[in-house]
Amino acid sequence: MVVFDDVAKEGHEQIVYGYDKVSGLKAIIAIHSTALGPALGGTRFFPYENEDDALEDVLRLSKGMTHKAAAAGLDLGGGKAVIIGDPRKHKSERLFRAYGRIVDSLRGRYVTAEDVGTSTQDMDLIRRETRWALGSSVANGGSGDPSPVTARGLYAATRAVAHKLWGSTDIAGRRFAVQGVGKVGAAYVQLLVENRADVVVSDAFQPAIDAAVANYGVKAVASDEIHRIDCDIFSPCALGAGLNEQTIPELRCTAVVGSANNQLATDADANRLRDHDILYAPDFVVNAGGLINVYDELQGYSKTRALHLVDSIYDATLNILETADEHNLTPNEAAIKVAEDRIRDIGDLRRFRRSGDDRN
Ligand code: NAD
Repeated sequence: MVVFDDVAKEGHEQIVYGYDKVSGLKAIIAIHSTALGPALGGTRFFPYENEDDALEDVLRLSKGMTHKAAAAGLDLGGGKAVIIGDPRKHKSERLFRAYGRIVDSLRGRYVTAEDVGTSTQDMDLIRRETRWALGSSVANGGSGDPSPVTARGLYAATRAVAHKLWGSTDIAGRRFAVQGVGKVGAAYVQLLVENRADVVVSDAFQPAIDAAVANYGVKAVASDEIHRIDCDIFSPCALGAGLNEQTIPELRCTAVVGSANNQLATDADANRLRDHDILYAPDFVVNAGGLINVYDELQGYSKTRALHLVDSIYDATLNILETADEHNLTPNEAAIKVAEDRIRDIGDLRRFRRSGDDRN
């Protein structure tokens, strides 16, 4: 394993390996950037086949967090952590507390939160060892499950896309195809239905479909049909890489706005969407609501303030779509440009300020 070559490619600042013999903890924390603030990003608990796969994932995900925080206009850098193991078999209080001590040793350079395979309850355990763990339960002073807030941010982005496409934020009568009605997808469907949109859903898990049909009166189609539905907006809210060489030519929508992370299988798929005249609202911009929500905990959580900031995803989305037009970029390229411009413009200023700040 050649760590420094991988790190040098994307300019990461620090990689930390954590191990605890008794609990079997094997963790890797990657800090991609602290130019704009502490490197915030969730802890993924996943049964990676080997350490190289875990390292590759944490390097990729932490860089993505730098872009996500910067595009959302937050004073945050980008980081991520992975714990190698099966979340259904290998979780224990000792493991999370040992991990919490490693997070604590970074003294706030890295701040963790929940991600795939970790929960609010796990954050409660980590928080017993460090204050640099967010997204713990409401009972413990945290902001709890971020999914409804992520759905709210996604809806704000949807209104921005509607404004861009049709000159009005009103989605009444517009047709939506929502792929995946789990925690975020179901809350998003609720908002769409409340605003009188016509919604079709799919899910790989029948009870999730049954709940959406019963609760919101929507129609359901098979999982392999949903992306082919004739609609205004296709909304991937399940897994990543759903927009690819095979699916994009089959889409019959005007725009894609969804919560799933890493929707584009490759960078070329952003161009492919543009070639098919489909407006793509970048995933890391429209799904930032959960990040914005936990970010607010750093200042002592206020739900009102957090939701206000989440609603600014409307402006962030419009700004990116307009930047794309202005510079003849795909929206994905425009979002990365907005993020990197912000890091360049503000990053040095923060470094200067922090060097005179003895709390850091
Ligand atoms: P979830 O696990 O609650 O829901 C995902 C749903 O997708 C499940 O019901 C699952 O059965 C379904 N699914 C899986 N494969 C499918 C397929 N091929 N076709 C249709 N449905 C399928 O997860 P979630 O928290 O709702 O997150 C959804 C997506 O949004 C994920 O990609 C996640 O990374 C991303 N995201 C979530 C948040 C958050 O706050 N929860 C924040 C940012 C991004």
